[in-house]
Amino acid sequence: MNPLFAHELDREWPHRHTRIISTLGPSTHSPEMISKLIASGVNVFRLNMSHADHEIVRNLVPAIRHAARQASRPVGILMDTQGPAIRTGDLKSKLSLKPGDVFVFTVRGAISNEEHSVDVNYDDLVNDINVGDTVLVDNGVIHMRVLGKELNQLRCKVLTPGTLGSRRHINLPGVKVNLPAMTEKDQEDVALGLELGVDFIALSFVREAADLEKLREFITKRSPDKKIPIVAKLEDQLAIRNVDEIINTADVIMVARGDLGVECPYEELPIIQRKIVKKCLERGRPVIVATHMLESMISNPMATRAEVTDVANAVYEQADAIMLSGETSIGQYPMECVRVMDRIARRTEMSGGAGFAQALQPGTPREHAIASAVHLANSARAAAILIFTNTGRSAAFASALRPKYSPIFAFTSQPDILHTLIIHRGVYPMLIEFAEDRQETLRNAMRKLREKNLLNKGDAIVVVTDFAGTEHVTSAVQFRVF
Ligand code: PEP
Repeated sequence: MNPLFAHELDREWPHRHTRIISTLGPSTHSPEMISKLIASGVNVFRLNMSHADHEIVRNLVPAIRHAARQASRPVGILMDTQGPAIRTGDLKSKLSLKPGDVFVFTVRGAISNEEHSVDVNYDDLVNDINVGDTVLVDNGVIHMRVLGKELNQLRCKVLTPGTLGSRRHINLPGVKVNLPAMTEKDQEDVALGLELGVDFIALSFVREAADLEKLREFITKRSPDKKIPIVAKLEDQLAIRNVDEIINTADVIMVARGDLGVECPYEELPIIQRKIVKKCLERGRPVIVATHMLESMISNPMATRAEVTDVANAVYEQADAIMLSGETSIGQYPMECVRVMDRIARRTEMSGGAGFAQALQPGTPREHAIASAVHLANSARAAAILIFTNTGRSAAFASALRPKYSPIFAFTSQPDILHTLIIHRGVYPMLIEFAEDRQETLRNAMRKLREKNLLNKGDAIVVVTDFAGTEHVTSAVQFRVF
């Protein structure tokens, strides 16, 4: 690549730092498509439990593991729960709605005499909502206003035209919905995810930190030996109000712009995204920007200019990961979408970033050593930072400091940690045996890098190592030539 601006990096960096998450669906369920997506640059696959059933998931998890092994690439698996979503029930035929029509939502089996009505899966709908509130149906396409409440019936006025099909999503902006953080379906899905060994679990419609604690408790009870990172999906107004406690409690944050853009006024969405990404980077919390990034590519082979700019914007904000949903689950051009994201991310990374991570301060002695390694790598434009990590924390902290140029080659002896590291911007996790002698471990790591052709002879590298002293482990930062 030949940058148009002379002050930017003068050669293409061989590694993309921003991670790409791809949602699997009918377009991409086959082992061939999974392999092609990995070859195109996918780092994490998302299983969307709003659509995928258990049989599909039981096939997909081993298929992804197999394809990743064949490609010799660490690939993560994120199970995304449906959460406490409110949905309309089944309709015999689609309803065509126009402004001014009266529409009735019924609960608890009530029957309406209105021409236009449908039942809803949320029994407390009539109690929780007030006259004058807004009801949004089908991802915000159909707007309605509440006219009145009767026993188990909610009478609304249609404000925007639309066609209503069966089992459509309902959003109630600003309404505190009295639904459990995890539904029965979510519990069954998470239990399956734990059984199959997925790497991340995402909780939908997180409203407060306590929601995440419930999921953590559920996971710990079933899988006491494993620490599976929890992804908090921020997708309604309550989550935005409680954003600080949610960021502090979650392992990863997702800006779930699909629902967020319906639950909040859309002009707020770019501002909310930037604020969340900034807060996450200031605290060293990994963050994913999701939904509609390349939406037009569901049916077109090329992105719109606005979509290219949207992807570039998330990369410039230095989010850890960018996510494809419908583009790869039901789209006609899944591999092209990944390649488009890859190309935009590589180019944007070369042009610099927003620098939100500058506010992150090291705390522990180990973090201070890592911060000095990142500083050294930045000033020397090192070809890589090498880190040895068994909990994943050191590599995560190095990533959180957002090295300007250097990828982080993170060596671990823990297979579970290997896959969870892949979500962090710029981290390339590799599995090696840790020898008693740390110098031997370092030699093994260098050999692995040579075998994989990841560095060139003569490249400057920064290595963070530990030396066992008589009482304490001492961290050391080395500047070496590969
Ligand atoms: C979103 O709303 O942006 C999102 C990622 O969630 P889902 O696809 O589960 O609705």
